[in-house]
Amino acid sequence: MSIKKMEEMNWNEFDKLDKEITVIIVGLSPIEEHGPHLPLGTDFISAKDCLSEVVNYLEINDSKYNYVIHPPFPVGYNECVMNFPGTMFYRSKTIENLIIDFGESIARSGINKMIIINHHLDLGHIKAIENAREYLLTKFNIKLLEAASRIIYSEQNHQDDIKNEEDCQREIHADVRETSFMLYKHPELVRECYKNLEPVYLDMKKFIMSGGKCFRENGIIEGYVGSPGNASFEYGQKQFKNMITQTGNLIIRFLEDGYIPEISSGIKSAMNHMKWR
Ligand SMILES: [Zn+2]
Repeated sequence: MSIKKMEEMNWNEFDKLDKEITVIIVGLSPIEEHGPHLPLGTDFISAKDCLSEVVNYLEINDSKYNYVIHPPFPVGYNECVMNFPGTMFYRSKTIENLIIDFGESIARSGINKMIIINHHLDLGHIKAIENAREYLLTKFNIKLLEAASRIIYSEQNHQDDIKNEEDCQREIHADVRETSFMLYKHPELVRECYKNLEPVYLDMKKFIMSGGKCFRENGIIEGYVGSPGNASFEYGQKQFKNMITQTGNLIIRFLEDGYIPEISSGIKSAMNHMKWR
């Protein structure tokens, strides 16, 4: 096994890799508004953190593969926060085409496995990745796994979420989870004001069903949905560890036999029902 940064290799070294056991791994998450307390790069930074730790996990737990790390893309679909200053919005097709071009390039090099590490669960973002995944599989036999949505939006997790609706589903954006995560990994980037932020909630089901697209027009003035004031270092640490174990184990299984968990039917139908820019 080896772990290499793609930008540091030359083409001969790249070509000499045993293609059957080589995987390209890349971060993909946007720069976007994250409340008054978190940086614009929260998702982007979190995806990078996850990627580097997951690679360490794979090195310990799965020694068979060569992992080539491509520099991360600061790109994502984020219509619900696009009218906050600092949000960088990309159309669904842009993201889809980016991933397709990326996959086609690695196919030309003779590699057929790629993994996206993502920390942004907007359904438009997931749909763009999913469209690209299907296209790459049919056209080039590229096997693509985007881990986060397949863990969070799996049928099992979705059922658990419905049971825990009270504490779980209301934490949506720049919330207790993301704030805790940043307190654990990058406390210097969390603004002190997080402690005084009152909880703000939004009924996401109603929001989506009513064709809602924009948090700001739906009373989300400060740009967070959830209770960032309850965040803690310990909760961030626990979440991060869980995320690494779940992501690492899913990647190992995916590489072994191509397994990708289904996205729950509820999430799928919401994803297909919405109109994307
Ligand atoms: Zn986020």
